[in-house]
Amino acid sequence: MATHQRRLKDSIHLLILATHRIPLVSINLDNAAPGFPTSVIGASPPSGQSAEPDGLNMVERLATRPDPALEAERRIKSLVGRIESTIDELERLTAVWCYAAHTPAPTPDKDFDPGDWCRSCVRIQKFEPPYRDGACRWCYEHRHPDGSMPTIAELNAHHLGVRVPTKAAGR
Ligand SMILES: [Zn+2]
Repeated sequence: MATHQRRLKDSIHLLILATHRIPLVSINLDNAAPGFPTSVIGASPPSGQSAEPDGLNMVERLATRPDPALEAERRIKSLVGRIESTIDELERLTAVWCYAAHTPAPTPDKDFDPGDWCRSCVRIQKFEPPYRDGACRWCYEHRHPDGSMPTIAELNAHHLGVRVPTKAAGR
């Protein structure tokens, strides 16, 4: 990803250079006679004569070659359109994934400590904050007369929403 950032910065630098050239490029493309970049010194041959190694005059050149100024203008327009949609997509994609880094979800073997939760409920993988004696309020109040925790069956029933009566010891 660091490479992506560096490459983007390089591209932005080139894009800025190209952007600054556009006004002059536009003038030159507008002024260019068909087939010749006339604004470039020495590029325009005297009329009717050929100054090009291919030995063609302007009319012959027009007949045999595409117009480089027109072609450049068409190509620039197309490239600007592509850059526009490419940058749009890159912006949208990075916007989706740029949320602030969050702490990873706790993993049972690393961050999870069953000792933080009700010692009774953890037996059925339920996690309730402890209330007293390492048990949640419900488990504490549903202790058996000998002080032991509710049975798994009672616990399951409770966590399924079934009302389980309390025992004498819980009072
Ligand atoms: Zn409990």
